[in-house]
Amino acid sequence: MARSSTTRLLIAASSAALALCLGVTGCSRTINGTPTTSGSTSADTVAGLPASDGPSGLKPGAQDAGLPVEGGTDGKVDTLATNAVADVQRYWRSAYPETFGGGDFRPIERLVSYDSGGGGRRVCGQDTSGLVNAFYCPAEDTIAWDRGELLPGLRNTFGAMAPVTVLAHETGHAVQYRAGLVDERTPTLVSEQQADCFTGAFFRHVAEGSAEHVRVSTGSGLNKVLGVLGYIRDEPGRTGFSDARAHGSAFDRVSAFQYGFSDGPKRCTEMTEESVTERTTQFRFWKEAQETDLPIDGESVEQVERSLREVFVDTGVAPPEITTEQRPCPGTETTEPASYCAETNTISLNLSELRTAATPPGNGDRESGYGDFAAYAQLASRYALAVQEAAGLTLTGDTAGLRTACLVGAWSGLIVEDPIGRRNPVGELRIAPGDLDEGIASLLSDNGLIAADAEGEQVPAGFARVEAFRVGFRQGTAPCASEYDD
Ligand SMILES: [Zn+2]
Repeated sequence: MARSSTTRLLIAASSAALALCLGVTGCSRTINGTPTTSGSTSADTVAGLPASDGPSGLKPGAQDAGLPVEGGTDGKVDTLATNAVADVQRYWRSAYPETFGGGDFRPIERLVSYDSGGGGRRVCGQDTSGLVNAFYCPAEDTIAWDRGELLPGLRNTFGAMAPVTVLAHETGHAVQYRAGLVDERTPTLVSEQQADCFTGAFFRHVAEGSAEHVRVSTGSGLNKVLGVLGYIRDEPGRTGFSDARAHGSAFDRVSAFQYGFSDGPKRCTEMTEESVTERTTQFRFWKEAQETDLPIDGESVEQVERSLREVFVDTGVAPPEITTEQRPCPGTETTEPASYCAETNTISLNLSELRTAATPPGNGDRESGYGDFAAYAQLASRYALAVQEAAGLTLTGDTAGLRTACLVGAWSGLIVEDPIGRRNPVGELRIAPGDLDEGIASLLSDNGLIAADAEGEQVPAGFARVEAFRVGFRQGTAPCASEYDD
Protein backbone atom coordinates (compact mmCIF):
# COMPACT_ATOMS: atom_id res chain seq x y z
CA MET A 1 0.00 0.00 0.00
CA ALA A 2 1.22 3.45 -0.69
CA ARG A 3 0.19 7.03 -1.01
CA SER A 4 -0.51 8.31 -4.46
CA SER A 5 2.02 10.78 -5.77
CA THR A 6 -0.60 12.60 -7.82
CA THR A 7 -3.07 13.22 -5.05
CA ARG A 8 -4.78 16.40 -6.23
CA LEU A 9 -5.54 15.24 -9.68
CA LEU A 10 -7.08 12.01 -8.51
CA ILE A 11 -9.28 13.63 -5.90
CA ALA A 12 -10.58 16.03 -8.50
CA ALA A 13 -11.36 13.22 -10.88
CA SER A 14 -13.04 11.04 -8.30
CA SER A 15 -15.43 13.56 -6.83
CA ALA A 16 -16.76 14.36 -10.28
CA ALA A 17 -17.35 10.89 -11.60
CA LEU A 18 -18.27 8.37 -8.99
CA ALA A 19 -21.37 9.01 -6.95
CA LEU A 20 -24.51 7.09 -7.73
CA CYS A 21 -27.59 6.72 -5.56
CA LEU A 22 -28.88 3.20 -5.13
CA GLY A 23 -30.55 0.68 -2.87
CA VAL A 24 -30.81 0.16 0.86
CA THR A 25 -27.45 1.60 1.69
CA GLY A 26 -28.44 4.95 0.28
CA CYS A 27 -25.92 6.46 -2.04
CA SER A 28 -23.26 4.01 -3.13
CA ARG A 29 -20.13 4.27 -5.16
CA THR A 30 -20.13 2.39 -8.40
CA ILE A 31 -17.17 1.58 -10.55
CA ASN A 32 -17.65 2.82 -14.07
CA GLY A 33 -17.60 0.48 -17.01
CA THR A 34 -17.06 -2.86 -15.30
CA PRO A 35 -19.43 -5.66 -16.24
CA THR A 36 -21.99 -6.96 -13.78
CA THR A 37 -21.64 -10.53 -12.61
CA SER A 38 -23.91 -12.59 -10.45
CA GLY A 39 -22.60 -12.83 -6.93
CA SER A 40 -24.63 -15.53 -5.30
CA THR A 41 -22.53 -18.42 -4.11
CA SER A 42 -23.63 -20.57 -1.22
CA ALA A 43 -22.11 -19.56 2.11
CA ASP A 44 -22.01 -23.09 3.49
CA THR A 45 -21.49 -25.43 0.55
CA VAL A 46 -18.67 -25.80 -1.96
CA ALA A 47 -19.84 -27.08 -5.34
CA GLY A 48 -22.51 -29.21 -3.70
CA LEU A 49 -20.42 -30.48 -0.79
CA PRO A 50 -21.15 -29.14 2.71
CA ALA A 51 -18.36 -26.83 3.90
CA SER A 52 -17.22 -28.45 7.11
CA ASP A 53 -14.16 -28.45 9.27
CA GLY A 54 -12.14 -31.54 9.96
CA PRO A 55 -8.60 -32.83 9.61
CA SER A 56 -6.45 -32.06 6.56
CA GLY A 57 -3.08 -33.52 5.65
CA LEU A 58 -1.66 -37.04 5.55
CA LYS A 59 -4.17 -39.73 6.48
CA PRO A 60 -3.04 -41.54 9.60
CA GLY A 61 -2.10 -45.14 8.98
CA ALA A 62 -1.90 -44.91 5.18
CA GLN A 63 0.88 -47.04 3.75
CA ASP A 64 3.77 -44.89 2.53
CA ALA A 65 3.76 -44.73 -1.28
CA GLY A 66 7.49 -45.29 -1.44
CA LEU A 67 8.04 -43.55 -4.80
CA PRO A 68 11.70 -43.13 -5.71
CA VAL A 69 12.77 -39.52 -5.17
CA GLU A 70 16.25 -38.34 -6.11
CA GLY A 71 17.75 -36.59 -3.09
CA GLY A 72 14.69 -37.44 -1.01
CA THR A 73 14.84 -37.71 2.78
CA ASP A 74 12.56 -39.36 5.30
CA GLY A 75 11.71 -35.96 6.79
CA LYS A 76 8.14 -34.75 7.20
CA VAL A 77 8.05 -32.49 4.15
CA ASP A 78 9.47 -35.10 1.77
CA THR A 79 7.13 -37.77 3.11
CA LEU A 80 4.14 -35.53 2.54
CA ALA A 81 5.41 -34.42 -0.88
CA THR A 82 6.11 -37.95 -2.10
CA ASN A 83 2.75 -39.28 -0.99
CA ALA A 84 1.04 -36.26 -2.52
CA VAL A 85 2.70 -36.91 -5.89
CA ALA A 86 1.62 -40.55 -5.63
CA ASP A 87 -2.00 -39.50 -5.02
CA VAL A 88 -2.01 -36.93 -7.81
CA GLN A 89 -0.62 -39.48 -10.26
CA ARG A 90 -3.13 -42.07 -9.14
CA TYR A 91 -5.88 -39.53 -9.77
CA TRP A 92 -4.60 -38.84 -13.28
CA ARG A 93 -4.27 -42.54 -14.11
CA SER A 94 -8.02 -42.70 -13.91
CA ALA A 95 -8.96 -39.14 -14.98
CA TYR A 96 -6.58 -38.82 -17.94
CA PRO A 97 -8.23 -41.29 -20.35
CA GLU A 98 -11.69 -39.92 -19.45
CA THR A 99 -10.59 -36.34 -19.97
CA PHE A 100 -8.65 -36.77 -23.18
CA GLY A 101 -10.64 -39.53 -24.81
CA GLY A 102 -8.13 -42.31 -24.29
CA GLY A 103 -4.41 -42.74 -23.75
CA ASP A 104 -2.68 -43.63 -20.51
CA PHE A 105 -1.14 -41.26 -18.03
CA ARG A 106 2.58 -41.97 -18.04
CA PRO A 107 4.13 -41.51 -14.54
CA ILE A 108 6.52 -38.57 -14.11
CA GLU A 109 9.99 -39.70 -15.19
CA ARG A 110 11.97 -38.14 -12.38
CA LEU A 111 11.17 -36.66 -8.97
CA VAL A 112 13.78 -34.52 -7.23
CA SER A 113 13.88 -33.18 -3.68
CA TYR A 114 16.54 -30.59 -2.89
CA ASP A 115 17.44 -28.15 -0.17
CA SER A 116 17.80 -24.65 -1.57
CA GLY A 117 20.02 -23.83 1.40
CA GLY A 118 22.39 -26.72 0.73
CA GLY A 119 24.76 -27.73 -2.04
CA GLY A 120 23.14 -27.56 -5.45
CA ARG A 121 22.30 -30.26 -7.96
CA ARG A 122 21.55 -29.85 -11.66
CA VAL A 123 17.88 -29.96 -12.59
CA CYS A 124 16.64 -28.73 -15.93
CA GLY A 125 19.94 -27.03 -16.71
CA GLN A 126 20.04 -25.02 -13.51
CA ASP A 127 21.68 -25.21 -10.14
CA THR A 128 19.21 -25.74 -7.31
CA SER A 129 21.38 -23.96 -4.77
CA GLY A 130 19.43 -20.90 -3.60
CA LEU A 131 16.43 -21.85 -5.76
CA VAL A 132 13.42 -21.44 -3.48
CA ASN A 133 10.92 -23.03 -5.81
CA ALA A 134 9.08 -26.09 -7.07
CA PHE A 135 8.65 -26.69 -10.77
CA TYR A 136 7.95 -29.04 -13.62
CA CYS A 137 10.65 -29.32 -16.28
CA PRO A 138 9.17 -30.59 -19.58
CA ALA A 139 12.54 -31.30 -21.22
CA GLU A 140 13.48 -33.76 -18.48
CA ASP A 141 9.92 -34.73 -17.46
CA THR A 142 10.91 -33.85 -13.92
CA ILE A 143 9.14 -32.41 -10.90
CA ALA A 144 11.51 -30.86 -8.38
CA TRP A 145 10.80 -29.19 -5.04
CA ASP A 146 12.69 -27.28 -2.40
CA ARG A 147 12.22 -29.14 0.87
CA GLY A 148 14.48 -26.66 2.72
CA GLU A 149 12.58 -23.39 2.52
CA LEU A 150 9.66 -23.28 0.08
CA LEU A 151 7.53 -26.21 1.15
CA PRO A 152 8.05 -25.83 4.93
CA GLY A 153 7.43 -22.07 4.67
CA LEU A 154 4.15 -22.55 2.82
CA ARG A 155 3.14 -25.31 5.21
CA ASN A 156 3.75 -23.06 8.23
CA THR A 157 1.51 -20.37 6.77
CA PHE A 158 -1.13 -22.33 4.88
CA GLY A 159 -1.16 -25.69 6.61
CA ALA A 160 -0.37 -29.26 5.65
CA MET A 161 -2.11 -29.16 2.29
CA ALA A 162 0.05 -26.34 0.95
CA PRO A 163 2.84 -28.65 -0.35
CA VAL A 164 0.15 -30.93 -1.82
CA THR A 165 -1.33 -27.95 -3.67
CA VAL A 166 2.05 -27.03 -5.13
CA LEU A 167 2.70 -30.58 -6.34
CA ALA A 168 -0.80 -30.97 -7.79
CA HIS A 169 -0.19 -27.75 -9.74
CA GLU A 170 3.19 -28.97 -11.05
CA THR A 171 1.68 -32.31 -12.05
CA GLY A 172 -0.99 -30.27 -13.86
CA HIS A 173 1.79 -28.89 -16.06
CA ALA A 174 2.99 -32.44 -16.76
CA VAL A 175 -0.55 -33.36 -17.82
CA GLN A 176 -0.64 -30.38 -20.21
CA TYR A 177 2.50 -31.54 -21.98
CA ARG A 178 1.35 -35.14 -22.15
CA ALA A 179 -1.98 -34.12 -23.66
CA GLY A 180 -0.45 -31.62 -26.07
CA LEU A 181 -2.45 -28.74 -24.57
CA VAL A 182 0.49 -26.34 -24.45
CA ASP A 183 3.59 -25.53 -26.43
CA GLU A 184 6.16 -22.74 -26.37
CA ARG A 185 3.71 -20.27 -27.89
CA THR A 186 1.07 -20.75 -25.17
CA PRO A 187 0.90 -17.60 -23.03
CA THR A 188 2.05 -18.27 -19.48
CA LEU A 189 -1.22 -17.02 -18.05
CA VAL A 190 -3.18 -19.65 -19.98
CA SER A 191 -0.98 -22.58 -18.97
CA GLU A 192 -0.95 -21.39 -15.36
CA GLN A 193 -4.72 -20.99 -15.24
CA GLN A 194 -5.10 -24.47 -16.65
CA ALA A 195 -2.68 -25.96 -14.10
CA ASP A 196 -4.68 -24.29 -11.30
CA CYS A 197 -7.86 -25.74 -12.83
CA PHE A 198 -6.36 -29.25 -12.87
CA THR A 199 -5.36 -28.68 -9.24
CA GLY A 200 -9.01 -27.96 -8.45
CA ALA A 201 -10.12 -31.14 -10.20
CA PHE A 202 -7.68 -33.18 -8.12
CA PHE A 203 -8.86 -31.49 -4.91
CA ARG A 204 -12.45 -32.44 -5.65
CA HIS A 205 -11.25 -36.05 -5.60
CA VAL A 206 -9.44 -35.40 -2.29
CA ALA A 207 -12.43 -33.58 -0.75
CA GLU A 208 -14.62 -36.55 -1.58
CA GLY A 209 -12.23 -38.73 0.43
CA SER A 210 -10.99 -40.66 -2.59
CA ALA A 211 -7.25 -40.01 -2.30
CA GLU A 212 -5.16 -42.73 -0.73
CA HIS A 213 -2.75 -40.71 1.39
CA VAL A 214 -4.08 -37.19 1.82
CA ARG A 215 -7.36 -35.63 2.93
CA VAL A 216 -8.77 -32.13 3.07
CA SER A 217 -11.72 -30.59 4.91
CA THR A 218 -14.13 -28.64 2.71
CA GLY A 219 -14.11 -25.70 5.15
CA SER A 220 -10.83 -24.50 6.59
CA GLY A 221 -8.71 -27.08 4.72
CA LEU A 222 -9.93 -26.14 1.27
CA ASN A 223 -9.91 -22.43 2.11
CA LYS A 224 -6.20 -22.57 2.87
CA VAL A 225 -5.58 -24.45 -0.39
CA LEU A 226 -7.25 -21.54 -2.20
CA GLY A 227 -5.14 -19.14 -0.14
CA VAL A 228 -1.85 -20.73 -1.13
CA LEU A 229 -2.61 -20.62 -4.87
CA GLY A 230 -1.58 -16.96 -5.03
CA TYR A 231 1.86 -17.94 -3.70
CA ILE A 232 2.73 -20.55 -6.32
CA ARG A 233 5.20 -18.92 -8.73
CA ASP A 234 6.92 -21.70 -10.55
CA GLU A 235 8.83 -20.04 -13.34
CA PRO A 236 12.44 -19.75 -12.30
CA GLY A 237 13.52 -18.66 -15.77
CA ARG A 238 11.45 -15.49 -15.71
CA THR A 239 12.25 -12.34 -13.86
CA GLY A 240 10.95 -8.82 -13.67
CA PHE A 241 7.49 -7.41 -13.74
CA SER A 242 5.93 -9.95 -16.09
CA ASP A 243 6.81 -12.66 -13.59
CA ALA A 244 4.76 -11.29 -10.74
CA ARG A 245 1.58 -11.23 -12.78
CA ALA A 246 2.22 -14.17 -15.09
CA HIS A 247 0.10 -16.50 -13.00
CA GLY A 248 -2.89 -14.16 -12.77
CA SER A 249 -4.33 -12.37 -9.77
CA ALA A 250 -5.54 -14.31 -6.74
CA PHE A 251 -9.08 -13.84 -8.10
CA ASP A 252 -8.13 -15.49 -11.38
CA ARG A 253 -6.40 -18.35 -9.66
CA VAL A 254 -9.31 -19.14 -7.35
CA SER A 255 -11.69 -18.99 -10.34
CA ALA A 256 -9.58 -21.42 -12.33
CA PHE A 257 -9.34 -23.79 -9.35
CA GLN A 258 -13.09 -23.54 -8.86
CA TYR A 259 -13.78 -24.52 -12.48
CA GLY A 260 -11.82 -27.72 -12.02
CA PHE A 261 -13.28 -28.39 -8.58
CA SER A 262 -16.88 -27.86 -9.69
CA ASP A 263 -16.88 -29.17 -13.25
CA GLY A 264 -13.97 -31.60 -13.47
CA PRO A 265 -10.79 -31.66 -15.59
CA LYS A 266 -12.54 -31.57 -18.96
CA ARG A 267 -13.57 -27.98 -18.18
CA CYS A 268 -9.88 -27.08 -17.86
CA THR A 269 -9.13 -28.21 -21.40
CA GLU A 270 -11.63 -25.62 -22.67
CA MET A 271 -9.52 -22.75 -21.35
CA THR A 272 -8.21 -20.77 -24.26
CA GLU A 273 -6.24 -17.58 -24.55
CA GLU A 274 -9.44 -15.80 -25.50
CA SER A 275 -11.56 -17.06 -22.62
CA VAL A 276 -8.81 -16.46 -20.10
CA THR A 277 -8.14 -12.91 -21.29
CA GLU A 278 -11.81 -12.09 -21.19
CA ARG A 279 -12.25 -13.27 -17.63
CA THR A 280 -9.06 -12.28 -15.85
CA THR A 281 -8.67 -9.19 -13.72
CA GLN A 282 -5.08 -8.32 -14.44
CA PHE A 283 -3.95 -4.77 -14.18
CA ARG A 284 -1.13 -4.73 -16.63
CA PHE A 285 -0.08 -1.18 -16.06
CA TRP A 286 0.16 -1.37 -12.31
CA LYS A 287 3.43 0.21 -11.32
CA GLU A 288 6.04 -1.77 -9.47
CA ALA A 289 6.97 1.40 -7.56
CA GLN A 290 3.74 1.17 -5.61
CA GLU A 291 4.91 -1.89 -3.72
CA THR A 292 5.84 0.01 -0.57
CA ASP A 293 4.57 -1.16 2.78
CA LEU A 294 2.50 1.03 5.04
CA PRO A 295 3.75 0.72 8.63
CA ILE A 296 1.40 -0.04 11.51
CA ASP A 297 1.34 3.21 13.42
CA GLY A 298 -0.99 6.04 14.33
CA GLU A 299 -0.25 8.09 11.24
CA SER A 300 -0.94 5.22 8.86
CA VAL A 301 -4.11 4.29 10.73
CA GLU A 302 -5.25 7.86 10.12
CA GLN A 303 -4.44 7.56 6.44
CA VAL A 304 -6.45 4.36 6.17
CA GLU A 305 -9.30 5.96 8.12
CA ARG A 306 -9.34 8.88 5.68
CA SER A 307 -9.42 6.46 2.76
CA LEU A 308 -12.33 4.54 4.28
CA ARG A 309 -14.27 7.74 4.95
CA GLU A 310 -13.77 8.86 1.38
CA VAL A 311 -14.75 5.54 -0.15
CA PHE A 312 -17.84 5.10 2.01
CA VAL A 313 -18.92 8.75 2.31
CA ASP A 314 -21.95 8.30 0.06
CA THR A 315 -23.34 5.29 1.91
CA GLY A 316 -24.75 7.50 4.65
CA VAL A 317 -22.51 5.99 7.34
CA ALA A 318 -21.68 8.10 10.37
CA PRO A 319 -17.90 7.59 10.41
CA PRO A 320 -17.06 5.39 13.41
CA GLU A 321 -14.49 6.55 15.92
CA ILE A 322 -11.30 4.54 15.62
CA THR A 323 -9.37 4.11 18.87
CA THR A 324 -6.51 2.05 20.23
CA GLU A 325 -8.12 2.02 23.67
CA GLN A 326 -9.86 -1.20 24.59
CA ARG A 327 -13.30 0.02 25.63
CA PRO A 328 -16.04 -2.25 26.91
CA CYS A 329 -18.97 -2.92 24.62
CA PRO A 330 -21.71 -4.64 26.60
CA GLY A 331 -23.31 -7.65 24.95
CA THR A 332 -20.82 -7.81 22.09
CA GLU A 333 -18.05 -10.30 21.47
CA THR A 334 -14.64 -8.60 21.09
CA THR A 335 -12.71 -9.51 17.93
CA GLU A 336 -8.99 -9.18 17.15
CA PRO A 337 -7.15 -7.25 15.81
CA ALA A 338 -10.12 -4.90 15.43
CA SER A 339 -13.53 -4.86 17.05
CA TYR A 340 -16.69 -2.95 16.17
CA CYS A 341 -19.09 -1.71 18.82
CA ALA A 342 -22.40 -0.75 17.23
CA GLU A 343 -23.78 0.89 20.36
CA THR A 344 -21.02 3.50 20.48
CA ASN A 345 -20.10 3.35 16.77
CA THR A 346 -16.49 2.72 17.74
CA ILE A 347 -13.74 0.52 16.31
CA SER A 348 -11.15 -0.61 18.86
CA LEU A 349 -7.79 -1.53 17.40
CA ASN A 350 -5.14 -3.75 18.96
CA LEU A 351 -1.97 -2.40 17.36
CA SER A 352 0.26 -5.26 18.42
CA GLU A 353 -2.14 -7.84 16.94
CA LEU A 354 -2.39 -5.65 13.86
CA ARG A 355 1.40 -5.73 13.54
CA THR A 356 1.34 -9.52 13.60
CA ALA A 357 -1.30 -9.48 10.88
CA ALA A 358 0.97 -7.21 8.82
CA THR A 359 3.99 -9.52 9.10
CA PRO A 360 4.36 -11.28 5.76
CA PRO A 361 4.57 -15.09 5.67
CA GLY A 362 7.84 -16.90 5.31
CA ASN A 363 9.65 -15.67 8.40
CA GLY A 364 10.33 -19.04 9.94
CA ASP A 365 8.19 -20.06 12.88
CA ARG A 366 7.47 -16.49 13.95
CA GLU A 367 3.77 -15.79 14.18
CA SER A 368 2.81 -14.00 11.02
CA GLY A 369 -0.03 -12.68 8.93
CA TYR A 370 -0.02 -11.76 5.26
CA GLY A 371 1.17 -8.15 4.96
CA ASP A 372 0.20 -4.51 5.46
CA PHE A 373 -2.88 -4.56 3.27
CA ALA A 374 -4.14 -7.74 4.93
CA ALA A 375 -3.78 -5.99 8.30
CA TYR A 376 -5.56 -2.81 7.30
CA ALA A 377 -8.28 -4.86 5.60
CA GLN A 378 -9.15 -6.12 9.11
CA LEU A 379 -9.82 -2.51 10.11
CA ALA A 380 -11.78 -1.97 6.87
CA SER A 381 -13.94 -4.99 7.67
CA ARG A 382 -15.03 -3.44 10.97
CA TYR A 383 -15.66 -0.13 9.20
CA ALA A 384 -17.87 -2.11 6.79
CA LEU A 385 -19.96 -3.14 9.81
CA ALA A 386 -20.56 0.52 10.62
CA VAL A 387 -21.76 0.98 7.04
CA GLN A 388 -24.19 -1.91 7.51
CA GLU A 389 -25.33 -0.63 10.90
CA ALA A 390 -26.13 2.76 9.38
CA ALA A 391 -28.20 1.04 6.69
CA GLY A 392 -30.18 -0.87 9.34
CA LEU A 393 -28.78 -4.24 8.28
CA THR A 394 -28.09 -7.21 10.55
CA LEU A 395 -24.51 -7.44 11.82
CA THR A 396 -24.41 -11.16 12.59
CA GLY A 397 -24.68 -14.27 10.48
CA ASP A 398 -23.31 -15.42 7.13
CA THR A 399 -25.05 -12.72 5.13
CA ALA A 400 -23.42 -10.03 7.26
CA GLY A 401 -20.07 -11.80 6.71
CA LEU A 402 -20.58 -11.82 2.94
CA ARG A 403 -21.63 -8.16 2.91
CA THR A 404 -18.53 -7.34 4.91
CA ALA A 405 -16.30 -9.14 2.39
CA CYS A 406 -18.11 -7.34 -0.43
CA LEU A 407 -17.62 -3.91 1.16
CA VAL A 408 -13.93 -4.56 1.88
CA GLY A 409 -13.67 -5.63 -1.77
CA ALA A 410 -15.33 -2.36 -2.78
CA TRP A 411 -12.86 -0.35 -0.74
CA SER A 412 -9.96 -2.27 -2.36
CA GLY A 413 -11.37 -1.84 -5.85
CA LEU A 414 -11.85 1.87 -5.36
CA ILE A 415 -8.25 2.51 -4.32
CA VAL A 416 -6.73 0.65 -7.25
CA GLU A 417 -5.08 2.83 -9.79
CA ASP A 418 -6.14 1.63 -13.19
CA PRO A 419 -4.62 3.64 -15.99
CA ILE A 420 -6.73 1.80 -18.54
CA GLY A 421 -9.16 4.49 -17.50
CA ARG A 422 -12.10 2.40 -16.45
CA ARG A 423 -12.06 3.59 -12.90
CA ASN A 424 -11.09 6.68 -10.98
CA PRO A 425 -9.47 5.83 -7.69
CA VAL A 426 -10.74 7.52 -4.54
CA GLY A 427 -8.52 9.45 -2.14
CA GLU A 428 -4.78 9.16 -1.65
CA LEU A 429 -4.20 5.57 -0.58
CA ARG A 430 -3.30 3.05 -3.27
CA ILE A 431 -2.85 -0.71 -3.40
CA ALA A 432 -0.54 -2.80 -5.58
CA PRO A 433 -1.10 -6.28 -7.05
CA GLY A 434 0.71 -7.98 -4.17
CA ASP A 435 -1.68 -6.27 -1.76
CA LEU A 436 -4.64 -7.92 -3.40
CA ASP A 437 -3.03 -11.36 -3.19
CA GLU A 438 -2.30 -10.93 0.52
CA GLY A 439 -5.82 -9.63 1.15
CA ILE A 440 -7.29 -12.74 -0.44
CA ALA A 441 -4.93 -15.02 1.47
CA SER A 442 -6.10 -13.35 4.67
CA LEU A 443 -9.73 -13.55 3.54
CA LEU A 444 -9.28 -17.33 3.24
CA SER A 445 -7.41 -17.83 6.52
CA ASP A 446 -8.92 -19.31 9.68
CA ASN A 447 -8.86 -16.19 11.80
CA GLY A 448 -9.35 -13.20 9.51
CA LEU A 449 -12.21 -10.73 9.79
CA ILE A 450 -12.65 -9.78 6.13
CA ALA A 451 -15.51 -12.27 5.66
CA ALA A 452 -16.61 -12.29 9.30
CA ASP A 453 -19.63 -10.86 11.09
CA ALA A 454 -19.54 -8.56 14.13
CA GLU A 455 -18.73 -11.50 16.40
CA GLY A 456 -15.84 -12.66 14.24
CA GLU A 457 -17.76 -15.66 12.83
CA GLN A 458 -16.45 -16.37 9.35
CA VAL A 459 -18.46 -17.46 6.31
CA PRO A 460 -17.60 -21.20 6.04
CA ALA A 461 -17.20 -21.55 2.25
CA GLY A 462 -14.05 -20.05 0.74
CA PHE A 463 -15.53 -19.81 -2.76
CA ALA A 464 -18.34 -17.64 -1.36
CA ARG A 465 -15.88 -15.42 0.53
CA VAL A 466 -13.85 -14.76 -2.60
CA GLU A 467 -16.93 -14.22 -4.76
CA ALA A 468 -18.35 -11.61 -2.36
CA PHE A 469 -15.00 -9.80 -2.24
CA ARG A 470 -14.80 -9.92 -6.02
CA VAL A 471 -18.31 -8.50 -6.49
CA GLY A 472 -17.36 -5.47 -4.38
CA PHE A 473 -13.95 -5.14 -5.99
CA ARG A 474 -15.36 -5.05 -9.49
CA GLN A 475 -18.63 -3.23 -8.93
CA GLY A 476 -18.23 -1.03 -5.87
CA THR A 477 -20.51 -0.83 -2.84
CA ALA A 478 -23.88 -0.86 -4.63
CA PRO A 479 -24.33 -4.62 -5.02
CA CYS A 480 -23.12 -5.43 -1.49
CA ALA A 481 -26.57 -4.88 0.00
CA SER A 482 -28.66 -6.03 -2.95
CA GLU A 483 -26.76 -9.27 -3.64
CA TYR A 484 -26.52 -10.12 0.04
CA ASP A 485 -29.76 -9.10 1.68
CA ASP A 486 -31.02 -10.37 5.02
ZN1 LIG B 1 2.71 -23.19 -12.83
